[in-house]
Amino acid sequence: MKLLEGKKALIFGIANKNSIAWGIAQTFHEHGAEIGFSYGIPQLERRVRPLAAQIDVEFIEMCDVSSDEEIADLFQKAAGHFGEIDILVHSIGFAPREELAGRYVDTSREGFKIALDISAYSLVALAKAAQPLMPNGGSIVSMTYYGSEKVVPHYNVMGVAKAALEASTRYLAADLGPDNIRVNAISAGPIKTLAAAGVGGFRKMLGYTAERAPLRRNVNQKEVGRTALWLCSDLGSGVTGEVVYVDAGYHILGMPEPPEKWG
Ligand code: NAP
Repeated sequence: MKLLEGKKALIFGIANKNSIAWGIAQTFHEHGAEIGFSYGIPQLERRVRPLAAQIDVEFIEMCDVSSDEEIADLFQKAAGHFGEIDILVHSIGFAPREELAGRYVDTSREGFKIALDISAYSLVALAKAAQPLMPNGGSIVSMTYYGSEKVVPHYNVMGVAKAALEASTRYLAADLGPDNIRVNAISAGPIKTLAAAGVGGFRKMLGYTAERAPLRRNVNQKEVGRTALWLCSDLGSGVTGEVVYVDAGYHILGMPEPPEKWG
């Protein structure tokens, strides 16, 4: 059974085949969605185009989400191509590399602004731009991480940006709910991607989580994709303003130590 037959999805944040957004795009394609891609920098076009070709994506446009002009331009083009859309995926995050190592207390004003602008405010800007293209309702999904709630070494200002993203999810859900537009976030466990590689000690994070998570492993892009699928299909029709965890259960632990090590 195809869950997204007849639906149109605009996906932001595909950098390469390891991107979480690519896992989502593949799942949406398998379920019959018509998909458009937006990527952030010109250098990525050569990586994004071959992926797009694999799943029949015709709409591929660059958009730096720190620019209101580029966002307006992108949505004008999307309106021309799709008319209306049903789904918006925000899978975007960025903080200057030097902010993702060492202590949070050393965060610079500029680094804070950039991280919050690109990783959190952009969801607000994209949701506002998408609303007119969703006259019959729709579903918006973004990606977050547990470092928004608890201190994770080196995650620093990204944790603060993700906290803002999650709060924005609730405020946007309240604003757009009367138009039948649902807004949710997926809190994914650590996955090896380009963005993740920028977080100091990321390899250690992968090992630490896999050793302790109830499922004793990490999650992958396809598992995030399948959760995005139910959130964006009619299966998720009653769900909005939520943060849904796809983290092999790691977030439920109060004492994250594998029982076999307790003695
Ligand atoms: P990724 O493949 O590197 O994707 C990050 C995307 O953000 C890239 O496509 C990047 O595009 C885009 N981006 C950054 N700045 C941008 C800008 N100014 N304008 C437009 N796009 C911009 O890494 P990912 O891990 O899949 O990240 C996707 C999302 O999942 C992020 O929100 C991330 O925080 C979140 N997440 C990741 C993990 C993990 O462990 N990997 C866990 C939980 C949540 P350009 O490179 O072209 O700028």
